[in-house]
Amino acid sequence: MVKFLDLFNVNERFRTDIDAAIKRVLDSGYYLLGNENKNFCEHFAKFCGVKHCIGVANGLDALTLIVKAFDFERGSEIIVPANTYIATILSISQNGHITVLVEPDINTYNIDINKIEQAITPKTKAIMVVHLYGQGVEIQPVLDLAKKYNLKVIEDCAQAHGATYIGKTERVGSLSDASAFSFYPGKNLGCLGDGGAVTTNDEELANRITALRNYGSHIKYHNIYQGVNSRLDELQAAVLDVKLPHLDADNARRLEIAKYYKENIKNDKISLPIIHSDSSHVFHVFAVRCKTRDDLQKYLADNDIQTLIHYPIPPHKQECYKEWNDRNYPITEEIHNTILSLPISPVMCDNEVEHVVEIINKY
Ligand SMILES: *Cc1c(COP(=O)(O)O)cnc(C)c1O
Repeated sequence: MVKFLDLFNVNERFRTDIDAAIKRVLDSGYYLLGNENKNFCEHFAKFCGVKHCIGVANGLDALTLIVKAFDFERGSEIIVPANTYIATILSISQNGHITVLVEPDINTYNIDINKIEQAITPKTKAIMVVHLYGQGVEIQPVLDLAKKYNLKVIEDCAQAHGATYIGKTERVGSLSDASAFSFYPGKNLGCLGDGGAVTTNDEELANRITALRNYGSHIKYHNIYQGVNSRLDELQAAVLDVKLPHLDADNARRLEIAKYYKENIKNDKISLPIIHSDSSHVFHVFAVRCKTRDDLQKYLADNDIQTLIHYPIPPHKQECYKEWNDRNYPITEEIHNTILSLPISPVMCDNEVEHVVEIINKY
């Protein structure tokens, strides 16, 4: 059986250090907003090449807190790719704003840079880009548009820890106004439960989010904002600090597998993803497209190969967004109807990768 992602083995590699980190937290008697959170956030900020990192409870909260902290007028419009994960969109609607869906590029699955400007109106306040499947977006044209129209740029980096932007050497999470990361166990950098972070170079925004995630207070029981409770706990921060130094190596292994797939999957029925440069894609997901996707998935399952669909239903067809159900986003729908994620992870071994290729080529 080739597992889609063997999470036990992902963490087992660091067992000794994780055990020691957990023991250290337990022994400290200090479980929230202590040294572990401080250390990890310092290290993660440095890793991303950014001044500030604020630990929060999960990726959705990271996004939601960024939007909240900008304090846009209620009913402002925020532009997002139409094929993103639902969390990106929830962060906008939960703040009382209007989501403006823009079609992705069929080749990169990221927002189509050429379709952003026509979606901008006087009510637009921000462009939220998503480095989907682990591929950095081409950020410069987005930053240029934001400057021209006086908009904020927010990044959803939940799938792309460590990737660089296309056309740049900087890592995602460093060049926009604020970025959100998730440390959900299955992400490229994952903890043992839920976790998330905001990165930004904006000190004032960092301070506001630091308070917002802690009931709106910097000083205990002095509440300057109506905040939420969304903290990265000490246990998760300690585990993340063990795993962060291995992230680049893990991403390199993912890239190696992706390149093997790219070079060796030879099947006219299957389209393979694009790699712009070795650092711009960290392959959180290796997504192929196939017209007979459901049949392919069943064929692979019959051959003991686990796959997943990211994602089966586009946001505008979800029940929770009924008001959009009649809209048409043909590229988004094409992606959702044909996409399939093959197994990829830093702990997949060569013979598993070769086996996947062999079986797929016989489809
Ligand atoms: C995982 C993910 C999120 C949400 O992160 P959680 O930690 O699960 O809340 C947001 N956006 C994208 C693109 C994701 O993949």
